[in-house]
Amino acid sequence: KPTHYGWIGLGNMGGPMTGNLVDAGHSVRGVDLDQRSLRDAQQRGVTPVSGVAEAVQGADVVFTMLPAGQHVREVYAGEGGIFEHASQDTLLIDSSTVDFETSRWCHREAEARGLRFVDAPVSGGISGAEAATLTFMVGGRAEDVEQALPYIEPMAGNTFPAGGASAGIAAKLANNMMLGISIMAASEGSQLAERLGLDPKVFWDIVSVSSGQSWAQKTWYPVPGIVESAAANNNYDATFRADLALKDLTLATQAGTEADLRLTAAELAKSQLQALADEGLGHKDCTLITKYVSPEGAA
Ligand code: NAD
Repeated sequence: KPTHYGWIGLGNMGGPMTGNLVDAGHSVRGVDLDQRSLRDAQQRGVTPVSGVAEAVQGADVVFTMLPAGQHVREVYAGEGGIFEHASQDTLLIDSSTVDFETSRWCHREAEARGLRFVDAPVSGGISGAEAATLTFMVGGRAEDVEQALPYIEPMAGNTFPAGGASAGIAAKLANNMMLGISIMAASEGSQLAERLGLDPKVFWDIVSVSSGQSWAQKTWYPVPGIVESAAANNNYDATFRADLALKDLTLATQAGTEADLRLTAAELAKSQLQALADEGLGHKDCTLITKYVSPEGAA
């Protein structure tokens, strides 16, 4: 039977995600502050509504897909927000990438009101959102997580019950931190191999079956002409924007600091992405950090 979704945040991710829900036969009432995003979602079959109240009332499940923690807090606890209008029958799901503390806050505040909340951030980017192949990492009470799975299914390639409250966001932050570090490794390794006279394709073939391999090396190798999916072939137009990678590393290192960890490699990766942002290149691909290793490697 069709599910009634309420959806707040119809941007680059929320737009295609809700389109897939509609295509699967469900109804979606959507909200966004930006009129263009709202119109684009309407083109995909989403019913635009004027505010959170209208999106939440009568919904089986309400998703938020917002830029960052502050937007999530505002949409949940602000005047006329989700907490004011949600009922105990409605499952609340945040799929935004937020700071760990905001995720903990969502769980706490929902529980204090007798409401049911799960964190379910995603990996897979805009292309994964379009193709309905996103990976969802889901945290919360077991029965709430179980109830969330079928609501997530039409948008997902993989869905992982990750554990209790905020386990989803913990997985997302740790994963994206490892990605940030492995991009640096692929960058520096690729440039060293070339500078030492190796043919880039020969080295890529070797490393692909050796201990230096990584997802970043396999899919985003920062040398033109080696891997088709790499932004290096495309003037570093973004596959994954440097400023979004910077956001994720900032959230990860912040969580690490609060947890008394020393995340040395993550701090380094963050500083490289920060340098791109400072140069006004935040909209370019994150693998453009290769230019700090070898200017001619990534001109
Ligand atoms: P986006 O900026 O394109 O979309 C966010 C939307 O939220 C915008 O349309 C904005 O107008 C809307 N919005 C902001 N405040 C609002 C409010 N108070 N009420 C209603 N609407 C509001 O961002 P995105 O790329 O869709 O990313 C969404 C989230 O997903 C982020 O947390 C991001 O980190 C995460 N994420 C993004 C990607 C990616 O590749 N883009 C991948 C994985 C996760």
